[in-house]
Amino acid sequence: MLYTDKKRKFEILVENASRCNLCTRMYGRTRVLSKKNGNIDSEVVFIGEAPGRLGADRTGIPFYGDQAGHNFERLIHFAGLTRQEVFITNAVLCNPRDEKGNNAAPNREEVRNCSLHLSILIDIVEPELIVPLGQCALRALHTIEAHQIELQRDVRKPVKWGKYTVLPMYHPGPRAAIYRSTADQKGDFSLLGEILGRRRIEQKLPLITSFEPSLAQRVIFRIVSGLGTVSKFKLTKLLYLLDWQEVKETSNVLTGFYYINQKEGPLATGISDALQEMDGYELSFQFKGNTPTYFISNDIRSNMELPPDMSNKIDTLIIQYENLTDAQIKTRADLTDPMKSILRRQKLGENMSNHPVFDGWITPKSK
Ligand code: URA
Repeated sequence: MLYTDKKRKFEILVENASRCNLCTRMYGRTRVLSKKNGNIDSEVVFIGEAPGRLGADRTGIPFYGDQAGHNFERLIHFAGLTRQEVFITNAVLCNPRDEKGNNAAPNREEVRNCSLHLSILIDIVEPELIVPLGQCALRALHTIEAHQIELQRDVRKPVKWGKYTVLPMYHPGPRAAIYRSTADQKGDFSLLGEILGRRRIEQKLPLITSFEPSLAQRVIFRIVSGLGTVSKFKLTKLLYLLDWQEVKETSNVLTGFYYINQKEGPLATGISDALQEMDGYELSFQFKGNTPTYFISNDIRSNMELPPDMSNKIDTLIIQYENLTDAQIKTRADLTDPMKSILRRQKLGENMSNHPVFDGWITPKSK
């Protein structure tokens, strides 16, 4: 198809999708289909599940702005691909939510409703490879034209589907880590790169080789190494208890984190970004039941060592708290002076949500 024809057909599809109101619970939601989905001349089309509330629904860009998006961007580098080169869409174009307003999985009817858009899109791009990311995307393809693909059995096997080739892969979202480890997913995407004849990008990517861990990241690494595996919840509280000890001794935090009070207790505000940057390299992430958990992985890019006095402080902390459950460690955090003061004020009716925990305890560093 000529590029100008393709472009026109795509514009018509976008226009039609923007007027679609087939799914009642997604009435008025952003239809995540536009030029921002990528390159209509791409050799590969990725199909996710649905725009995420904090991701594509907010940004208008599939797999962008949330944890699934972070993971996806990192993984496509292993295929030697960039976002600009590929086309990314979802089984459904709008963000489905439950009654509480949280992300929900699209139901069968919603997938069926959106399958015409997906089918037209595939025929416009005519990719060499279609990569459904997870069960829902596979179901969407099945709705267009029946197939026998089973994700667990056929993952990363190219399978013929009508005139196209499908390469089934797992979803990159954090929940899928239960079924497929980060290491396996990296392998899956490397294979995709090989199939497309790409050079593996590890050599190309400065991000991977020039990683400069922050002090906080080295502290996190030491804690996770010491414990073997740790829930994100417990890690957060351990960091707080470590920093509280430091505040008592020096009137300053050790990690550089800024703590705010949340429903779950003190939270280091930069922790998610710090973990995300290490995820898949120094750290691996997996759900244990419903609990997000970290452990050390083998892909260490940089020197993660700490000065001996800091390592000793962390080792003491680990010995002190390693056997405590999440609930017990939360109690320990709540019993520290800054948290006791916050909880007291909260009880008296003050809104202490997001209140800085060490307000009045730490000395601002002189410039
Ligand atoms: N964001 C998307 O765009 N799709 C998904 O499936 C998940 C997050």
